[in-house]
This record gives sequence, structure tokens and C-alpha cells, in this order.
Amino acid sequence: MSEIASPSTTSALVLFSGGQDSATCLAWALERFDRVETVGFDYGQRHAVEMEARQAVRREVTKALPHWADRLGDDHVVDLTGFGAIGETAMTTERAIEADARGLPNTFVPGRNLIFLVAAAALADRRGLEVLIGGMCETDYSGYPDCRNDTIQATARALSLGLDKSVPVETPLMFLTKAQTWEMADRIGGRDLVEAIIEFSHTCYLGDRTQRHVWGYGCGTCPACELRAAGYAEWAAV
Ligand code: ZN
Repeated sequence: MSEIASPSTTSALVLFSGGQDSATCLAWALERFDRVETVGFDYGQRHAVEMEARQAVRREVTKALPHWADRLGDDHVVDLTGFGAIGETAMTTERAIEADARGLPNTFVPGRNLIFLVAAAALADRRGLEVLIGGMCETDYSGYPDCRNDTIQATARALSLGLDKSVPVETPLMFLTKAQTWEMADRIGGRDLVEAIIEFSHTCYLGDRTQRHVWGYGCGTCPACELRAAGYAEWAAV
């Protein structure tokens, strides 16, 4: 994680999917910035449940952090369904989750985070928001190459050149394990925030909200559920 670019920086745009990681990033941002907005990307996800979870998580995170609730501003949804049509992976079409020749699961939409950051930077520019915040993590995130710190910081550099101004991208979870992500939420907002993330954030690739586990809702067997469950178990055992 790099340091925030300027002590006068007071506004941020959080890339916000409504999952555990971006929910934790939202809390992290509310702790630090006077004004925080959120952006989600509709790239033709199979599961509207993820888009619906976003509103519930925004509401519940501010309930868990009432002293910072007035820092949360507008939510935006950017239509990237055209890009999703290019990606056409297991996330956006009804295909089984499997690995390709690079060893990447086909849940990987090629270059997704690059497109998200470009779209977020354009929105932040229009909204007067100074810092982009994303939940990308290279520690235990299925090896997606566009989650790597090098990828994100190279993109931040390209954006700074392309927009002719500093475009800092903060990734507070980059080098954390999933257990440490739960620990961060606990540090920021205690049990209330942890409970809000468990109950309302959505991570499961299969969009399953019928099965409730100690770590939240999900099928329990897809890669995202396995990561979330294992991280929670590791954190809870400490
Ligand atoms: Zn699942």
C-alpha cells in the first residue's frame, strides 16, 4: 500500500462491487476521507444479486460507522456491458468454472481491473474526487494478473500521464490475506462492521444467497466462497 499522495487530500472514489473486499475498502475510506463516493460496474454479471448487495452494504456500513456516515456521498453505476461482451467468461455467461492454458480460472475477465480504473478515473475527474480506492489483492486472489500491485500502479502511472494530473490508486488490501481483511474490518468498525459485512456483502461466484454460513451467504464451494470461508476461519481462530 502506498501512502496517500497529499495531506490535503480529502476525497475518494471507491471501486465498489458489494463484496467483502470492497466493503472493507469502503470502511477504510470513510475512516480517512471527508468525502467518499462509490462506483460499481455493470459488465453483464450473471447475478443481479451482486448489484443489489451494493446498496445494502452502503447502508449497513454507514450504520456500523455512524460517526462517519455523513462522509458517504453518491453511488454511481457505469455500464460496461460492451466490455463484458468481449470478456465473455464464466462470470458473464453460463459456463462452468474451469482453468485455461495460462492456469487462469475462466472467472477471469481479461483486463477487467484496467478498464475499471480508467472508467473510475474519468468519473472521479468529473466528480472532483482525488483518490481511487480498490480492493485488489495479490496475496490469495486466484492469481488474477490484473490484481497485482505492479499492474495497478502501472495503470495509475498511465492515468496520471493520460489525465495530466496525479491519479493516486490506493489498494489497502493488496498484501493482506483474507484473514487480515477480516481483521482490518474489525479494527475499523468492530463487531458491528464485521457483522454488516458477513450479513450483507456478496462474494459467491454462483450468486447463491440461500445458504447462510458463519462467514456469510454463498454456495460454500466456488473459489470465492472457499477463500472467504477459509479466511474467516483463520481470523476467527486467532
Ligand atoms: Zn460460492
